Amino acid sequence: VKKIQEGSLEAPIRHPIDWQGDDFDNPKLLFDELKRVFNICSGCRRCFSLCDAFPKLFDLVDETPTGDIHAVDEDKFWQVIDNCYLCDTCFKTKCPYVPPHEFNVDFPNLMLRAKALKFKKRGPTIRDRILSNPEKLGSIAGIPVVAEVVNATNNSKLGRLVVEKTLGVDRTAPRPIFHRRTIRKKLSNYSKNNDKVKQYSKNPGVVLFLTCYGNNNNPEIVEDTIACFEQSNVPIVFASTEKCCGMPKLELGDIKSVEAAKNINVPELHSWAVDGWQITSPIPSCVLMFRQELPSLFPEEQKVKAVAEAFVDPFEYLYQLNKEGNFNKNFKSSLGSVFYQVPCHLKVQSIGLKTRDILEMIPETKVTSIERCSGHDGTYGVKKEFRQSSVKIGKPVAQKLDQKNYDQFTSDCPMAGAQIESISTNAVNYAHPMTLLRRAYKI
Ligand code: SF4
Ligand code: SF4
Ligand code: SF4
Repeated sequence: VKKIQEGSLEAPIRHPIDWQGDDFDNPKLLFDELKRVFNICSGCRRCFSLCDAFPKLFDLVDETPTGDIHAVDEDKFWQVIDNCYLCDTCFKTKCPYVPPHEFNVDFPNLMLRAKALKFKKRGPTIRDRILSNPEKLGSIAGIPVVAEVVNATNNSKLGRLVVEKTLGVDRTAPRPIFHRRTIRKKLSNYSKNNDKVKQYSKNPGVVLFLTCYGNNNNPEIVEDTIACFEQSNVPIVFASTEKCCGMPKLELGDIKSVEAAKNINVPELHSWAVDGWQITSPIPSCVLMFRQELPSLFPEEQKVKAVAEAFVDPFEYLYQLNKEGNFNKNFKSSLGSVFYQVPCHLKVQSIGLKTRDILEMIPETKVTSIERCSGHDGTYGVKKEFRQSSVKIGKPVAQKLDQKNYDQFTSDCPMAGAQIESISTNAVNYAHPMTLLRRAYKI
């Protein structure tokens, strides 16, 4: 009798996503695989508290007379799939049955496969089109006058109600602010003389991937990152062209659009990576996209691989700089007590808590970290039908923040920060960790 091992003793591996293969969007094969994996999960249940996808699954199974996934109506599987926002936490932190274990469970990639089938069959809704295209939204909403109107609509009760009724964007969900002038325009000198910078920099520096959020909604995080890196004399450039990394499209299962974004970003970033430059971004989701998602989707592409290897988290970069003795620790101000939420998309990069480690180099600064999901998760937390679940997921983080009077509240992900702020009753305002670091330099 063959003995089934409880958990794998070998290091987890992730199989590439065969999204162009014939089997990928074959509904029969997909639903067979969903049943196989759901069956394993309903026997295991380790992931019951991570998100709402697993509780939905376990409820569906428990509601059948025999407690058997095969007795669940296949249409109801979408309740599970739609509640997965592809954070990868179950795969990376909980599951003992990931490959090379013979059970071969990769829950997030299976959810992506199901989302891709749904996208292929039904296409995006109007709301999906708007929310998954932050660049277009930013370019329209950032037009003078339009920016003011959009911001005013987002800030008024009536405006929020109208948007909820027409688009299904929950009225209580946090909204980004739109700026008239993008950071790329404001700081155009960082992309104007790239050839000269490359030629005259003594050592390769860093290409800053601005992200559409940084470009349109939160220019401060870009400016703060530049200011902090320049304190340690790191040469910084922007890529001459940049397109949204594609994470919101991936969330919808729209892999073709992810490919289109990759085709614009990767050649440009690769031209720096081959010369030894590293690439970073102030948003963990974007780093994750280049580091892990694109190599999974395009395993044969050498340029994708080279860009993935050159991509680093910004605090990971500073940490490395410190090891080499080149990180400027000439801080002028302390931060006191810092409450730090570690976003899922950072946690699953498996690099440890480098943000905490850097912030704790600031004198009289104590960081309390919490590694729990904020519940924002891309566009999940703003959709009316998921808002309640999203608040439930983020509540433990907000409650922990509310327990003490912290001097600072931070998260590498500004969207997670806004989400926790919207649930918490604590008066402390959210600030990106680069903003905190800049404050400590007093620059
Ligand atoms: S990937 Fe994240 S959201 Fe999806 S099932 Fe796993 S833990 Fe839940
Ligand atoms: S994903 Fe893995 S750990 Fe989570 S419930 Fe399923 S089998 Fe268990
Ligand atoms: S993941 Fe990054 S680049 Fe993509 S939409 Fe979000 S902020 Fe923009």
